[in-house]
Amino acid sequence: SLPSDEEIDKIHKELEAAGVKYTVGAYVDIHGVPKGKFVPLSHFKHFAKGSELYTGYALDGLGQSPNDDEICSIPDLGHIIQLPWQPEVAWMPADNGFKGEPYEVNSRVALQKVLKKANDMGFGMNLGVEPEIFVIRKNEDGSIEVPDAEDKLVKSCYDVRCLMTRFEWIDKMSTTIDALGWELYSLDHEDANSQFEFDFKHCDALTMCDRLIFLRMMAKQYAEEEGLVATFMPKPFANKTGSGAHFNMSLYDLETGGNLFEDPNDPRGLGLSKLGYQFVAGILRHGPALCAAFAPTVNSYKRLVRRGLMAYYSWAPVFNSYGRNNRTNSVRIPMGGGRVESRNADSSCNPYLAATLVLAAGLEGIAEDLDPGNPQEVNLYELDQAGLAERGIQELPRTLHEAVEAFAADPFVTETLGEELRNEFVSYKSEEWIQYHQRVSAWEIEEYVQKF
Ligand code: GLU
Ligand code: MG
Ligand code: MG
Repeated sequence: SLPSDEEIDKIHKELEAAGVKYTVGAYVDIHGVPKGKFVPLSHFKHFAKGSELYTGYALDGLGQSPNDDEICSIPDLGHIIQLPWQPEVAWMPADNGFKGEPYEVNSRVALQKVLKKANDMGFGMNLGVEPEIFVIRKNEDGSIEVPDAEDKLVKSCYDVRCLMTRFEWIDKMSTTIDALGWELYSLDHEDANSQFEFDFKHCDALTMCDRLIFLRMMAKQYAEEEGLVATFMPKPFANKTGSGAHFNMSLYDLETGGNLFEDPNDPRGLGLSKLGYQFVAGILRHGPALCAAFAPTVNSYKRLVRRGLMAYYSWAPVFNSYGRNNRTNSVRIPMGGGRVESRNADSSCNPYLAATLVLAAGLEGIAEDLDPGNPQEVNLYELDQAGLAERGIQELPRTLHEAVEAFAADPFVTETLGEELRNEFVSYKSEEWIQYHQRVSAWEIEEYVQKF
């Protein structure tokens, strides 16, 4: 429902007093990239009611043709952020509308639809995402490198000196995250050189997705100010760990707010409730299809490897399985229980789309009272095919192509997203694969030109 005139007027006055000149209602395309216009504050009254129109055909995956009517943006006035680095601009997440209705090909609209379904079952969804980010230097010839010489000197995970090298960027990120009230609780140097992670408190799923979209823009902005590039690309360097964006999920009781995934008396000893196990089982049932939403780029599958070109294991999952703290499973119940972590998610995902599908899968597990079987405790990376078969463990898709095939083959996806949004994803991602696969890489030239 649209905000009332009084509400709009009140917010208008607040924005004016804060020195805002432009508002931007950021909806996302199918990739989760924010789109919108600058709307002068003088026009806010109309903008808040959906006056701004967009040619849908100019946007990836919004299901429009050049002959269609325009779609509009409807800003969510509950989540306004005045840009700390450009205070004349107020950012707000937005949905698309079409012919007076919420536009269902938009992934944020799709998420609200499945959240409503959860609400009808008495649940709300909490989400915490742990984005990992590289800060790199891009050279004139287009090559990339980590900015610091430490690269050659230390194993960087949790390394304090490495953390200090990017102090200005980290400090800007942290200060903003805190000022926005996101409750930052930890930040560290990750396993690869110049790779960082910011962890802030979980919140309702829609708000967390909005935050993630904003965080990506903010990280890039602050890195640019240092003459560097922040990238959420899943695997920028073949010989270093990739960047995940693990989804930590729980359902809460709509009436009491209590966490419904907590159970200190869990007979399996993971601190997870029956409802939590059902949710896990739903995720595993649709694991291969979900993988396409969690890890939607060609590059995602360079991250989802046991070791790849690295001397050590990757921490990134390759199996459709679950376990306790064991990081070799795609679904993990971190120590203490009370939540479910999907580890195959990376930051090239559209968080709204991924959250929509994973929640729908979890709800299906609940509705059908599914059980995920026993948790996997061993280092799964070391199992051979026989060991995997013995445990009934299936590999996740190994390429974008396999993932999109699994996505396209699972009717649950169409039921959840609707035909149009599902088709848009399949067609964009199939084309992405073809674009990649049809190129001849430097590796192939090196390997084959002389050999054959
Ligand atoms: N960087 C790892 C990944 O690609 C995750 C490391 C961790 O568990 O924080 O998923
Ligand atoms: Mg991490
Ligand atoms: Mg994690």
